[in-house]
Amino acid sequence: MTGLRRTRRYTDMDDAWKQKVRRVRSYTPGLQPVPDASLIKLNTNECPYPPSPKVAEALARFDAETLRLYPAPDADALTEALAHYHGVKKEQVFTGVGSDEVLALAFLTFFAGEGKEQRPVFFPDVTYSFYEVWAALYGIPYETKALREDFTIDPADYADAPGGVVIANPNAPTALAAPLSLIEEIVKKNPGTVVIIDEAYVDFGGETALPLLAKYDNLLVTRTFSKSRAMAGMRIGYAIGNEELIAHLKNTKFAFNSYTMSRVAIEAGCASLADEAYFRETVAKIKATRERLAKELSALGFTFPPSSANFLFVTHPRAEAKRLYEDLMKDKIYVRYFDAPRTKDYLRITVGTDKEADALLSFLRAYPALKE
Ligand code: PMP
Repeated sequence: MTGLRRTRRYTDMDDAWKQKVRRVRSYTPGLQPVPDASLIKLNTNECPYPPSPKVAEALARFDAETLRLYPAPDADALTEALAHYHGVKKEQVFTGVGSDEVLALAFLTFFAGEGKEQRPVFFPDVTYSFYEVWAALYGIPYETKALREDFTIDPADYADAPGGVVIANPNAPTALAAPLSLIEEIVKKNPGTVVIIDEAYVDFGGETALPLLAKYDNLLVTRTFSKSRAMAGMRIGYAIGNEELIAHLKNTKFAFNSYTMSRVAIEAGCASLADEAYFRETVAKIKATRERLAKELSALGFTFPPSSANFLFVTHPRAEAKRLYEDLMKDKIYVRYFDAPRTKDYLRITVGTDKEADALLSFLRAYPALKE
């Protein structure tokens, strides 16, 4: 064997592990620049207000000594508090590290079934782009169903979905809410598969599917503390469904990581739930700013679907969305742009404080392309 061949063999060996690496398509989160008081961050649908003061109190009270112990695997205190809050049994509640983790485990449990049979999952063509990423990660086949021109759902598209359905309601990035009757129609038309309703934004105006749980055992509703509870940084999400569905979800979690929720997150989550007045007040402030922002943006010639979320999905006949997104960023105003065929003419703007709305509006009023 010559030296050269030996070298070649080493190279092949080096490459061999690279060929075995799993190459996954990943989700691209919105930019998270270093916090800076001069920056206006309207790009990831966070809450512009702090969490309840009760959360800060709970954190101050938190006994760091307890961190030497693992947390309760089922996050019992938070699970029980959520069950009480929603008037369901604690066996119907599943908690996780953000609704992203809850959804990822739900895809794995309910959509990546046993056997070789390929059963596509249905979801809208314009929706939370993580759904495609999880489907690809687990090798779940999927079909996207085109929303109508006005971004509404045609429920007929979702009849007898072979592998399951996932719908964000209100939807993202469109901000449009589907009525409960439409959601029920979809759940009803799919008795053979699980239907996931992602209610990340429901507190801002949508109709929850939770009442349907009494009638349908194939429904899973997911929620988050990241938006209306101002706790994106704490990573708390949960799902509510019938006991059997939740037991399957827990089983998957225990095949992956027994202790997903930290002791700190459990305490902080409980504290947030204990302050209903603050929660309502925060949501009301965001809704009021949303209405004002919507009115002013319409006056500037923007159009958008009616928003039931904490963001607006806007387009303007005279402004090129990508250019406007870049120009806003140069002025330290961050919004979200999705460069895909049906979203390329739109910007998704998170509803911030009134002051942030004013800064955005004054930029837009001076933006040359928007002038007649
Ligand atoms: N669902 C939708 C529709 C979202 O927009 C988001 C936020 N990116 C999530 C779920 C996940 O939120 P989190 O993991 O913070 O709970």
